[in-house]
Amino acid sequence: MNIIENLHAIQAEIPDNVQLVAVSKTKPEAEIMAVYETGFRDFGENKPQELREKEANLPDDIRWHYIGHLQRNKVKYLAPFVQLIHAVDSMRLLKTIDKEAKKNDRTINCLLQMHIAEEDSKFGMTSDNIKQLLDTKEFAALKNVNITGLMGMATFTDDTAKIRSEFQRLRRSFDEIKQSYFREKQDFRELSMGMTNDYRIAIEEGSTILRIGSLIFGERNYH
Ligand SMILES: *Cc1c(COP(=O)(O)O)cnc(C)c1O
Repeated sequence: MNIIENLHAIQAEIPDNVQLVAVSKTKPEAEIMAVYETGFRDFGENKPQELREKEANLPDDIRWHYIGHLQRNKVKYLAPFVQLIHAVDSMRLLKTIDKEAKKNDRTINCLLQMHIAEEDSKFGMTSDNIKQLLDTKEFAALKNVNITGLMGMATFTDDTAKIRSEFQRLRRSFDEIKQSYFREKQDFRELSMGMTNDYRIAIEEGSTILRIGSLIFGERNYH
């Protein structure tokens, strides 16, 4: 198994307008550096502590994507440097991100996570929840967060028709929300969907950001 070959195979396969985030959670810094040395810069992590350590040790021009569920008391660790927070699932979290971004004198790009899978365990808001959030005065008052799109995770299943229909639902919600809330906003354009098991379907259904781990780095060992 060769990480660089895996990376190049995926890069060759995905369209130019689709961005790849290499999900490096649980993987050692040496493996991230091997990928970095090919010129690749976008890495995804889902644990604040792990991300913070890697960020401190690895080159400054890496664009770190936070892809997991984020607790409000951990936002401060990521706020100084994070490139994109993929999975914002509440107004309270968004307000905390805004506050911490302001302390760091920056704007943080965020995606709103929509719940599309049948599993209860997957976080995220319904399409209605997202619209309600966007309708609030509280949301309008936030100055240091920039909503650039939506993110979702499909059910973990072999049933490709089911995965496809979940991605289609996310895509439709994205289009509706863009039309109703962000018509003039050029940078509301991202649809973060697709992982190792379902990225081909995600591309077909309009993904702009793939979050791929195992297919690049190999299986993860959780201890
Ligand atoms: C781990 C993870 C991924 C990558 O998963 P793979 O199946 O290894 O590609 C993508 N998105 C999120 C939110 C994850 O937690």
